[in-house]
Amino acid sequence: MAPNSLSDLELLNLIKEKSKQERNLTIEVINLIREVEKRRLYLKLNFGSLFEYVTKELGFEESAANRRISASRLIREFPEAEEEIRDGSLTLSNIVQAQVFIRREEKLKSKRLPREEKKKVMDLVKNKSARNAKITLLQKFPEQVVLIESSRQVTADYIEVKVILNEKVISKLNRLRGLLSHKYPNMSYSELIDELTNMAIKKLDPEENGARRNATLTVKELDSTKNESDRNGTKIKSSSPPLSAVERPDIQKSKTPTSAVEQSNKENSRYIPSAVKRAVWKRDKGQCVFKESESHEQCGSKFQLEYHHEIPFAKGGRPQAENIKLYCKRHNIHRAITDFGKERMQEFTPSSIT
Ligand SMILES: [Zn+2]
Repeated sequence: MAPNSLSDLELLNLIKEKSKQERNLTIEVINLIREVEKRRLYLKLNFGSLFEYVTKELGFEESAANRRISASRLIREFPEAEEEIRDGSLTLSNIVQAQVFIRREEKLKSKRLPREEKKKVMDLVKNKSARNAKITLLQKFPEQVVLIESSRQVTADYIEVKVILNEKVISKLNRLRGLLSHKYPNMSYSELIDELTNMAIKKLDPEENGARRNATLTVKELDSTKNESDRNGTKIKSSSPPLSAVERPDIQKSKTPTSAVEQSNKENSRYIPSAVKRAVWKRDKGQCVFKESESHEQCGSKFQLEYHHEIPFAKGGRPQAENIKLYCKRHNIHRAITDFGKERMQEFTPSSIT
């Protein structure tokens, strides 16, 4: 029947009925998706993932696919959720939101959330609008606010990036704005970030400035003994994250004559001379050269690169280019575990890595 021929009452009843049918149909699709996943049929059809299958083969838009897959996995874990989705008390978008928070919480804590905890989180978002669900989740996990980042293409050349910064960072940014204000009187955040990234790349990327005396790349030599001094003379604390290059006190460093620093460090033979670092960086092309033992594939990561002693210092390895390799942090730790045994490494690494 054409909508315009319905009485008001018929219209209201019909739309209610059809909405219910739509939800039931959605549940059916979700249950079928779960079975496809269980049988891994998407792999047989040459899709790399279930998500790819649901978007490309079934034609769902990305966020709709995401909602259905999330719901399917939720029902797998909590079969009772099916009824809650059916009666509308649990919406698909709230399921996605809750699962995002659960995953972030697991990431923050480096462990799986127990089943009953997950259930509690899911219960929090029941009978709530998407907005209220988000507010409730943020109240439950206030520390996650800093992890909420998003980006969105606004034009062909511009991307809107949303990050949440604490007041300290904002005040540092404003301080930098002040310091740069002679050159750029009215800097926007975008211009400020552009300027800061240029400065940082010049400083941190050895390829940009090979002539620099001091490659400021983060180096946490994992074969160093606990409580030994690093090359800046500061104590390496067990399980503390490595100092990132930007956190290093460069102003202080530049006041110290380089030769004196190098001289004092030469006495500690674990210190890797800048020339060696540059040579290693160049030879290894600024990427992790760790090779998987079975596939022999090179890692190639450019993230959290560290200088790795092939023969550990403690076992007589010297800081010469032949003995130093560029490894990403993950593989540096992996090798250190192989070299020293897991037990001793736990003194150095957070539990998440082991
Ligand atoms: Zn690697």
